[in-house]
Amino acid sequence: MLTMRVTDNAYDVALENFDTAADALDLDRDTREMIKYPERILTVTVPVRMEDGHIRRFEGHRVQHSTVRGPAKGGIRFHPQVTLDEVKALATWMTWKCAVVNIPFGGAKGGITCDPKNMSQTELEHMTRRYTAAILPLIGPEQDIPAPDVYTNSQTMAWIMDTYSMTKGYPIPGVVTGKPISLGGSLGRNEATGRGAFYTIEHACAHLKLPLKGATVVVQGFGNAGSIAAELLHKAGAMVIAVSDSTGCVFNSKGLDIPKLIHHKAKTGRVAEFAASQPITPEELLAMPCDILVPAALENTIHADNAAGVHAKIIAEAANGPVTPAADRILEANGVFLIPDILCNAGGVTVSYFEWVQDEQHLFWEAQDIYNRLERVMKSAFADVLKIHQNHKVPMRTAANMLGIGRVAEAMKLRGVYP
Ligand code: NAD
Repeated sequence: MLTMRVTDNAYDVALENFDTAADALDLDRDTREMIKYPERILTVTVPVRMEDGHIRRFEGHRVQHSTVRGPAKGGIRFHPQVTLDEVKALATWMTWKCAVVNIPFGGAKGGITCDPKNMSQTELEHMTRRYTAAILPLIGPEQDIPAPDVYTNSQTMAWIMDTYSMTKGYPIPGVVTGKPISLGGSLGRNEATGRGAFYTIEHACAHLKLPLKGATVVVQGFGNAGSIAAELLHKAGAMVIAVSDSTGCVFNSKGLDIPKLIHHKAKTGRVAEFAASQPITPEELLAMPCDILVPAALENTIHADNAAGVHAKIIAEAANGPVTPAADRILEANGVFLIPDILCNAGGVTVSYFEWVQDEQHLFWEAQDIYNRLERVMKSAFADVLKIHQNHKVPMRTAANMLGIGRVAEAMKLRGVYP
């Protein structure tokens, strides 16, 4: 469904964006060598007895890109297109993202190449538990803390928490975030990524003097990040005119009723065939004239071949890596204001940090407290990135990378080279 080009390797994109920001920071060669590449990579075989009695082998990865500023942190993705390079890219972005919002974590990511939509709950549980056992030496509340990503959720985290705890002999909720509330999850975590993206969109609109009320919005990917961002934008008076998921795209020029669309998706598993809408193609969705485009699906969806056709004033990257460097240059030349992924979707890891802190303290906060803290973090991160963008006259993505990479570089220099 996505107009993704297979030639765009996410890890090449991550390295290219690193070099651009490191050059702008005038970062010395030694520091680059120390912080650019993943610290640890583990690839595991995950055998699962399927419902039909046969064993099926899946391949999984866990990549710890950095532990310079704290324990490694990052989600786990279950998707047919997961590759080691994709996981390395996502782990790299986690490092800069945690530094942008200034939380004391490094970066990590995990993934299993699988098609979860065609697996039973039992198969998913067995695969998750066996993968957890395989990456056990790497994870732990002080080492590396997984979280949900594409096609994983709070149930997946519950299985990981249980598997890890069983091997230790006592409950250790802090080994994962994005857990169910009843297992030590945090209020506000489920909607944190979409909510954080919403706050950054508010700030971008204020900066551009674009009223959010009445602004037109297009959302690609109607999952956790995309649907919550759409819901909050809808509540704030914006008009969400087009939305897509892996099954199709729906459009209504007068605005889609987002709460009803969320209900429709929960009931049918898809946005397609929503009553008050007409179907459009994924290409039409990305080229739709609008004020705010929110890519919230996968990497490389806006690339050299379709970027010129984007007619949005703001691109808010709720997804990780949805715009390639070549597309960045085209959008920049066309005056599109970009809220880069490591800023836009950092609300998720920020509330994951709050969850981890609550688990470690065994003391839980109220929802409003979490929203207020998240709002403060996103506000200050947005202001920090915007300041670099304006003072150094660099694109917003370079500015965000300069902030994140600069903070990691500073910590690295202070720690020095072991031994
Ligand atoms: P999700 O599994 O909840 O949702 C993914 C959505 O994308 C689904 O609606 C799916 O149908 C849709 N999708 C998949 N393929 C598509 C396609 N070809 N075209 C259009 N839509 C497609 O996942 P999520 O957690 O919302 O993650 C989405 C993006 O946000 C990813 O890039 C992820 O890394 C990023 N992100 C998520 C979090 C989080 O806390 N969940 C945090 C930071 C960043």
